[in-house]
Amino acid sequence: ILQLTGLSKAFNGKTVLRDINLSVQPGEVISIIGPSGSGKTTLIRMVNGLETMDQGSVELLGQEFIRAGQRENALPYRAQITRLGMVFQGFNLFPHKTVLENLMLAPRLHNLDSREDLHQRSLAMLDKVGMLEHATKYPHQLSGGQQQRVAIARTLVMKPAVVLFDEPTSALDPERVSEVLQVIEKLAEEGITMLIVTHEMKFAFAISDRVVFMEQGRIEIDASPAEIRQMRDHRIFRFIDDMAT
Ligand code: ATP
Repeated sequence: ILQLTGLSKAFNGKTVLRDINLSVQPGEVISIIGPSGSGKTTLIRMVNGLETMDQGSVELLGQEFIRAGQRENALPYRAQITRLGMVFQGFNLFPHKTVLENLMLAPRLHNLDSREDLHQRSLAMLDKVGMLEHATKYPHQLSGGQQQRVAIARTLVMKPAVVLFDEPTSALDPERVSEVLQVIEKLAEEGITMLIVTHEMKFAFAISDRVVFMEQGRIEIDASPAEIRQMRDHRIFRFIDDMAT
């Protein structure tokens, strides 16, 4: 459903991603983990066109989506961008719109549905993330965890084929992390295809079909949690231990 081929990127002569290849099947949940600076965020931003690539290409739903040398106003990108959802570390809700307005804005811009259908679906998505009772509030009236749950609902209203998460809990107070992880876990159970950059190791190993371990801009490991648990001598274990302490 999503195919990354030969992605490379340098910033000011410093290589941050080297020949990244990753294939995501429908319904798969893939967590991307690795030390700070290993290129995880750059990679996920590249997939949805927020960062340009020096080499490589991305296919979405079996069609060209974006590739090196192409600007994000290119036709294949514009045609498919609504199929790719993105949840950011910092929620990125519109501050002067209510929760419900935040959900309905992008689908209306893209004329995705009739107003009535969209309204119903927005309410259903808010219910799914446990935020229905807050539909008429503004973002500043909500906690970080609540804002992030709204951001997730806002992404789902677009009916994305794949949802990308860039460290969705790292801007949250510790006591707010689990409510967001629970929502993501629920989506995983529903079979939503997701690519998640995260520092939450227990969560990543619990919900993922595959865990991708990045180091110095390379994919060092791409394997199931069970397979990784067998790699006892690999340095990924030191990384996981360091994260847990
Ligand atoms: P973290 O876990 O700390 O978020 P990460 O694995 O997501 O790290 P990236 O944020 O992708 O790593 O950064 C990879 C490297 O690219 C880092 O060395 C970073 O300094 C560099 N980098 C990222 N964005 C830019 C930019 N816009 N300009 C220059 N260098 C950048």
